[in-house]
Amino acid sequence: MRFLPFVITILTIMNSNLNAQSGHRNPLTEEEKHVILHKGTERPWTGKYLENKESGIYTCKWCDAPLYRSKDKFDSHCGWPSFDDEIPGAVERRQDADGLRTEILCANCGGHLGHVFEGEGFTKKNTRHCVNSISLNFKPLQQTVQSSTTETAIFACGCFWGVEHYFKRATGVISTEVGYTGGTKANPTYEEVCSHSTGHVEAIRVTFDPSKTSYEELAKLFFEIHDPTQTNGQGPDIGPQYLSEVFYLNEDQKITTERLIGILKQKGLRVATKVRPATTFWPAEEYHQDYYSKTGGMPYCHFRTARF
Ligand SMILES: [Zn+2]
Repeated sequence: MRFLPFVITILTIMNSNLNAQSGHRNPLTEEEKHVILHKGTERPWTGKYLENKESGIYTCKWCDAPLYRSKDKFDSHCGWPSFDDEIPGAVERRQDADGLRTEILCANCGGHLGHVFEGEGFTKKNTRHCVNSISLNFKPLQQTVQSSTTETAIFACGCFWGVEHYFKRATGVISTEVGYTGGTKANPTYEEVCSHSTGHVEAIRVTFDPSKTSYEELAKLFFEIHDPTQTNGQGPDIGPQYLSEVFYLNEDQKITTERLIGILKQKGLRVATKVRPATTFWPAEEYHQDYYSKTGGMPYCHFRTARF
């Protein structure tokens, strides 16, 4: 029965992918059809998201695929929402029918978004996706993570001593803490977690500086320091408290994780990593914190393997 949650998780992930890639389409108004299907342009300075400064994700109006992040939006004073980057793989470029401009479309459904321009010097990335508001929906993120200058990530992939050894050395990481999460009991002890009665996994909470690294970089590290295909534990450590799981704190982290899992699956890995919303993280007993620095040992359980 231990395998049932994996099956459910994998089915959930497949389902959310299917949702985006199958024929799922939202009904469109005539005005939306004019832009999204017939490549029209909304009048400048009229779009709903032109002045939107909220943190969140912009998705495709037609198929709901995530397209842009609010952190890539900037003021171009051109009359349409402008972004200097897209969510990787989300936007397709094509030569416009006018032979001059580059049209941008939703890579999933082919809905028209607008045009992309390069070399204008607005931002460091020197790119401006000029997007019709009407082609987009907006999903605000929880403010807690976004409003601060640090960000948090929670990963579980086996014995937390070894996991912390790698994460605390990663660029941009401010602090790490090992603990227990994903279970039912408040304030679990190490012995309780090891007895498999609480449902927790050994996990790490990483606080990082998003100007020096990114959630994606850390998630890649996560997938490289353990074997995400192992279904009964990690390395020599067997038991449900050692399973591979990502506990996301916002939609952006979830999307990033699922995209990386997709890449690994394309490479033939049968990824067993569970992806679920973060629940309470209970810090472990002091003697588990920073274990290998205190003891001077080296991890026996985790080794880095390049996978991306
Ligand atoms: Zn779409």
